[in-house]
Amino acid sequence: MKRLSAVMAGVAFGAAAMMSPMLSGGYAHAADKGYVGIAMPTKSSSRWISDGNSMVEQFEAAGYKTDLQYAEDDIPNQLSQIENMIVKGVDVLVIAAIDGTTLSNALENAAAAGIKVFAYDRLIVESPNVDYYSTFDNFKVGVQQATSLVDGLIASGEPPYNVELFGGSPDDNNAYFFYNGAMSILQPLIDEGTIVIKSGQMGMDTVGTLRWDGAVAQARMDNLLSAHYTDEEVDGVLSPYDGLSIGILSSLKGVGYGSGDTKMPIVTGQDAELPSVKSILADEQYSTIFKDTRELARVTVSMVDSVLAGEKPTINDTSTYNNGVKVVPSYLLEPIMVDKSNWEEILVGSGYYSKEDVQ
Ligand code: BGC
Repeated sequence: MKRLSAVMAGVAFGAAAMMSPMLSGGYAHAADKGYVGIAMPTKSSSRWISDGNSMVEQFEAAGYKTDLQYAEDDIPNQLSQIENMIVKGVDVLVIAAIDGTTLSNALENAAAAGIKVFAYDRLIVESPNVDYYSTFDNFKVGVQQATSLVDGLIASGEPPYNVELFGGSPDDNNAYFFYNGAMSILQPLIDEGTIVIKSGQMGMDTVGTLRWDGAVAQARMDNLLSAHYTDEEVDGVLSPYDGLSIGILSSLKGVGYGSGDTKMPIVTGQDAELPSVKSILADEQYSTIFKDTRELARVTVSMVDSVLAGEKPTINDTSTYNNGVKVVPSYLLEPIMVDKSNWEEILVGSGYYSKEDVQ
């Protein structure tokens, strides 16, 4: 009896020590709430740097320890980074996949270790081991890109308009949403002859750009121009990402668009990366889509926080993102179209950039 009460007292003391930082010999460290592995695709695009930095900042402020890794668009590299995180004992993985189809085995190990998996911005497909998904309304991104393209074309002259189409990386689920969203606006205009795709190149299997590589887009634009636009001009280019737009614009400039009598075509983009915002102000790129990475980080941190506390996270979409195995519960944020008319209000007004960054 005596021994039992001594043990009980010890347990009670232990519990008190755990709860009281003074008794346990110091204040609880801020990073005690859990360990979060953050796997980002590449530093070659500034949006992913902002995503990574915002998450580290916000997770740490919420009391988490983080391990942030970039894989420079190399699939085996990202896989081994994720496997390392699992070995290091993370509680949560937040992953923006390079190739959404290649992570199944690693995620099986994660699930076996009780690690929760959050797909970040890009859906992880063909795996049951994806718990939640935070992203933007990706179909709407495509709708906004095409709407801005059409508005620019109408403002620039009379139809019919010669347009060429570019898609994102075929191993990124988002690329199909962007393309399909854009085609929901463009296809009826193509059918009625208002828009003409002179090359005839359509469909993600034809217009996709592996790894979102600007040099690949530039080379394809070079070929399109020399094969189809020696007698007539191209009036617009659907580009799904600023990094591709830069390659496309440099191809166009190379053959004289944007100088003398040859107008720069209407070229879209995505991510509001600084070189592209500057290009918009210089009347080269026409528009981009702003996706506030600080907000995406905020939503993700709050989802992780709820799940680790054993609560249901806030989600706002339970039907759109089927990954081939299941519909992944998602939170979708709103993208915003940015062009020369609203860049200051949207990008500077929100504090995403300062005016000096842009000008
Ligand atoms: C993201 C886009 C980005 C693209 C290239 C997509 O998955 O949603 O914001 O432009 O990847 O990095």
